[in-house]
Amino acid sequence: MTQATPQTLAPTCARTATFTGLKCKECGAEYEAKAIHVCEECFGPLEVVYDYDALRQTVTRASIQAGPNSIWRYRPFLPVETDTPIDVGTGMTPLLQANRLARRLGIKKLYIKNDAVNMPTLSFKDRVVSVALTRAKELGFSTVSCASTGNLANSTAAIAAHAGLECCVFIPSDLEAGKVLGTLIYSPTLMAVHGNYDQVNRLCSEVANTHGWGFVNINLRPYYSEGSKTLGYEVAEQLGWELPDHVVAPLASGSLFTKIYKGFQEFVKVGLVADKSVRFSGAQAEGCSPIAQAFRENRDFISPVKPNTIAKSLAIGNPADGVYALDLAHKTNGNIESVNDQEIIAGIKLLAETEGIFTETAGGTTIAVLKKLVEAGKINPDETTVVYITGNGLKTQEAVQGYVGEPLTIEPKLEAFERAWERAQTLERLEWQQVSV
Ligand SMILES: *Cc1c(COP(=O)(O)O)cnc(C)c1O
Repeated sequence: MTQATPQTLAPTCARTATFTGLKCKECGAEYEAKAIHVCEECFGPLEVVYDYDALRQTVTRASIQAGPNSIWRYRPFLPVETDTPIDVGTGMTPLLQANRLARRLGIKKLYIKNDAVNMPTLSFKDRVVSVALTRAKELGFSTVSCASTGNLANSTAAIAAHAGLECCVFIPSDLEAGKVLGTLIYSPTLMAVHGNYDQVNRLCSEVANTHGWGFVNINLRPYYSEGSKTLGYEVAEQLGWELPDHVVAPLASGSLFTKIYKGFQEFVKVGLVADKSVRFSGAQAEGCSPIAQAFRENRDFISPVKPNTIAKSLAIGNPADGVYALDLAHKTNGNIESVNDQEIIAGIKLLAETEGIFTETAGGTTIAVLKKLVEAGKINPDETTVVYITGNGLKTQEAVQGYVGEPLTIEPKLEAFERAWERAQTLERLEWQQVSV
């Protein structure tokens, strides 16, 4: 074999792959790192393989901290080759100590990982899309697409616009107005399909086959899903290079949940944090809770359901990574719980009133499940617990309409204000009396 010449080693921009290919999660069959997501042998999902020995040699806490203030500080752990990925400031969202919420729930050390303020579109999906579209460009796609429950459409349309990629996204036609407008503003082609997410997804699999587009959550899924690992890395780094005792996160397809775990495991594997057993608890909405149902009934398989819940971003009736999420909750001594729509609304309000964070229905689901787990003694008050808030409440305003009171409308006169203020004080006193009865 001839030695590579310096010219071939010095292209216009640097490329250093730390991953070696794809591998089937079920049978271990190996594949080149192309736009494929299903094993040809056994139909299992494909996952990216990294050279961890090389990562252990090259990555340090200092090298990460010297990187950008975005998910790309963890680039060696992400499945892209370029040194100039699409960086729109995604990631490094705040990890807040939630003392008031903790006190209200009766636990001691609670943190909120706040992806309600992720960039550019205010949900955790910006992470997976930043990675998927960087890889899509490397693989030569000029048109990108997705099947979305809402947030993914926002992210794909926004980041495709930034990267100059053609974009056509698919959503169920009954999504919240904020999610629809939050996609259309970037001028993609938006297909609103009469059907639920699972039907949208099936249609998209067919389009992927006939059109040769890069679907972030279908043929690019092995790369896309790796983006969620950054939610594990950031929490470990923000806790001072330590793992928490317990995490609570929402489940739609179950991917995010399992990838937080993978992120923690990788940091242990390359020596960035000490090993620790972390308990993983998952949150679903009762109106779409196939994983929680399987957990409750102690089944090792998922029975698909037809979604009917206000938590539309979590409304996947046939979750692709459901069995892996189920397995993770079992093996880490965690739980998977579900809550109804009223509890979800109460969860949104509880987080807003105690911590000043307005989350969407997915976050309300997660907070309500956190509360339920604490009340059932399934979260120990002494555990360092991290709860993942994955989306922003301004996008799902319909969900809380009618549950947040009304403004006091007054004339521009001091006297009018004084009267209204007195009435407000009286009302508040009455509410307190009702609460204490
Ligand atoms: C998509 C989504 C999730 C869940 O993602 P999965 O990886 O499919 O489980 C959670 N929260 C929000 C806000 C989402 O948009």
